Amino acid sequence: MRIVRRVTELRLALHDGRRGLVPTMGAFHEGHLSLMRAARAQCEQVVVSLFVNPAQFGARDDMGRYPRDEERDASLAEEAGVDVLFVPSPQEMYPEGFDTWVDVDATGGEARARPGHFRGVATVCLKLFNLVRPDVAFFGQKDAQQVAVLRRMVRDLNVGVHIRVLPTVRDAAGLALSSRNAYLTEAERQRALGLPRALEAGRTAHDPVAAARAALNGLEAEYVELLDVDGATLLTAAARVGSTRLIDNVIVEGELA
Ligand code: AMP
Repeated sequence: MRIVRRVTELRLALHDGRRGLVPTMGAFHEGHLSLMRAARAQCEQVVVSLFVNPAQFGARDDMGRYPRDEERDASLAEEAGVDVLFVPSPQEMYPEGFDTWVDVDATGGEARARPGHFRGVATVCLKLFNLVRPDVAFFGQKDAQQVAVLRRMVRDLNVGVHIRVLPTVRDAAGLALSSRNAYLTEAERQRALGLPRALEAGRTAHDPVAAARAALNGLEAEYVELLDVDGATLLTAAARVGSTRLIDNVIVEGELA
């Protein structure tokens, strides 16, 4: 596996053949690794980007304490069969004078809860798509609204990449794996389980939102909403447990391809 930090080096590391890209912010867990393994199985060249993207964090967000361990991430990526790990600096991605943004008109859910978040996500992903020129880019269902936003962008701007979605990987108790779970104390982790349990209660209910809200068990949700992603209906929610913000979703109807 090659680790490259500069755009110029990245160009030289690419070769012909079906190429897969897995964009990440690092602190790898089984969710990230499932995307890398799928890319490995389906592509000739697998590129993973590791970039804690300042543009998608708000002023009050947790970017300063976001977990980082490049050495561990590099060895996990190598084990998963990744060919190129792209680890740019913020200056490499946003050099002096950077002034172009991709603003997908998303509403509800994370778009309302984190103004500017998807602008940062869409901008960095379009940059990564242009740099890596993947045939397929792999994303997790965990961030379902992100998938909806990126598919909208790809269609609207005629970006030649296929967006694949893979199921959310959970721990044995049902909590969706997230780099941010590292912040949770054991007591908070127990409370956090209220989120997947509430979504599960809503999944088969006549009124999923009301049923999930009723099952929150004291956990305070920022929102519980239905989200349409390419004809599939998802029940999505966000909640704060202590100082940690968690998001999760389940499919209520249809399938995510
Ligand atoms: P992140 O590093 O958190 O930006 O996530 C990078 C990619 O991994 C995104 O496409 C996420 O949706 C995906 N991902 C994060 N957590 C999970 C999970 N528990 N299961 C599946 N995919 C995930």
